[in-house]
Amino acid sequence: MSLPIFLIGARGCGKTTVGEALSQALGYAFTDTDHHLQLSTQRSVAEIVAEEGWEGFRARETQSLRAVTAPRTVIATGGGMVLAEENCRFMQEQGQVIWLSASPEILAERLESEPEAAQRPTLTGRPIADEMSDVLRERAHLYQAAAHHQVDAMQSPERVVEAILLSLSLARA
Ligand code: ADP
Ligand code: MG
Repeated sequence: MSLPIFLIGARGCGKTTVGEALSQALGYAFTDTDHHLQLSTQRSVAEIVAEEGWEGFRARETQSLRAVTAPRTVIATGGGMVLAEENCRFMQEQGQVIWLSASPEILAERLESEPEAAQRPTLTGRPIADEMSDVLRERAHLYQAAAHHQVDAMQSPERVVEAILLSLSLARA
């Protein structure tokens, strides 16, 4: 199987961390839609949101998703990728979609301990734990509906990779 593998889930669930490890395990390329967006626009997520609003950001995110999708590639997607049904349909049709699920408490803990936390724009300006609760309440059903497989992302990155390989019946390269 050489279809692209899309990792979806909230900020902090480990899409970048796990995605890189998964790509190495499979001998696949790794790409990140947020990273593509920043390279192609030469701006940070925060700058794009400040200049074009979340709506402008979302439109660019859809373009980035399409641009990075290729066979034998693990694709870490932005946390809000599932907000557009068009993106969900695209990912489901093009490859395998994995939801890395984690509790709001774990997500908040991880995001707070990141040195570059300030670069990640919060949606509401409220405490990160409250915000992650709200985000998951709004989006869990979208992640669930979009994903072919749900994987528990509250284990070590190595175990998350193993769980993904198992769910896809894929062997390491
Ligand atoms: P995302 O790309 O989904 O926003 P990241 O991969 O950037 O998430 O991870 C967010 C933070 O959580 C990073 O500091 C990362 O080191 C940490 N992290 C990611 N996955 C795990 C994990 N399975 N266990 C512990 N910490 C993790
Ligand atoms: Mg990431």
